[in-house]
Amino acid sequence: MAEIRLHPPESVERAPVWLAEAILWARDRGATDLHFFPSEGEAALWARIDGDLREVARYSISVHERMVARLKVLGRCSDYAGELAQEGRFSLNGQSAAGEARLSILPTLRGEKAVVRLLAGGGRLRRLGELGISGELVAALREATDRPQGLLLAVGPSGCGKSTALYALLDDLNERAGRPLSILTIEDPVEQTLPFAAQITADPARGLGFAAGLRALLRQDPEVIMIGEIRDPETSTAALQAALTGHRLLSSMHALTAAEALVRLQQMGSAPYEISSAVAGALNLRLARLLCPHCKSTRAISPDEMEWIPEAAAWPERVVGESAGCDQCLGSGRLGRTAVGEWIAPTPETAAALQARQPVREIARTLEMAVPARPAALSLLKDQRISVAEWRALDGLPSMRGN
Ligand SMILES: [Zn+2]
Repeated sequence: MAEIRLHPPESVERAPVWLAEAILWARDRGATDLHFFPSEGEAALWARIDGDLREVARYSISVHERMVARLKVLGRCSDYAGELAQEGRFSLNGQSAAGEARLSILPTLRGEKAVVRLLAGGGRLRRLGELGISGELVAALREATDRPQGLLLAVGPSGCGKSTALYALLDDLNERAGRPLSILTIEDPVEQTLPFAAQITADPARGLGFAAGLRALLRQDPEVIMIGEIRDPETSTAALQAALTGHRLLSSMHALTAAEALVRLQQMGSAPYEISSAVAGALNLRLARLLCPHCKSTRAISPDEMEWIPEAAAWPERVVGESAGCDQCLGSGRLGRTAVGEWIAPTPETAAALQARQPVREIARTLEMAVPARPAALSLLKDQRISVAEWRALDGLPSMRGN
């Protein structure tokens, strides 16, 4: 596999300039996080690209210390002695679109470790049509967000594109309204600034948690409200109440499936009938890594693979894509990602199953799989845009199993 690395800075003096260049280099490759990791006798820079961490450079501890000092200045951190865990924020300036970065510094046994998170794809707002989801899913999401009331939930593991999808949905609603639309958001933190929405940052320390913030937003004549995440009983109760009393809401939950999210709402104290009437549906999302178009090749699908992808028997050519890695994809064989999702809605049976405290898999059986992910994932595989391994990684989506 091709090794792609940055040449380390030649001197400690050159470290700040090198740091600025490395951040922009990583941002332009779609990196989400940069780790400045002090190790035994030397330090390394790792970049998370398409979900995986890769080492991009190694250099001396003194270069590392100079870079961390520079990061602290950028992030306006106050502790220069390096004894406290600290947070900061700074803006990126570059040739392409500027973006925001969040900084975290942690004092470790071997010195300070810094992590820079590059927010929401370099600060560029994605359109709904750019996420990569199927036209059928786009139509279902539009239909759900056009209803006058109800809560739309984005679910999935962290880093699966929930925030990006919620922002894209707000943008789409605003675009299609053709008039000013009263859109308000409460987030922790605001990951992307939206020119068309009034956004506030949740700050529980100052008495403005998600629940209190939501009450304030409800007095602002809202037409659409986005709550960054539902993670406590107060927020879930307030969100469901708002959805039941004529408001349109969008939010996300850290749950792997729609059924899990509904069960968590119940565990947070909401009544089953409130959940099934308030929740319009759940968008369960995953990001699939695309095969690098520069080093992609094809091979025949194996008999084993045919067993679990029987649909492939009907393909004109029974081949799948694979890739070895090249300079363009930093040796990984993958370049870029696309969203794959399913749209699931509760039914009257869902409330009864929740009421009876049925296990998650029984709750799942009562849900309507309105738009399954499998057909979209199959076309990605058939068109050699994803590998068989990536197809298998989508297994966490209930609609991917069986056929
Ligand atoms: Zn490649």
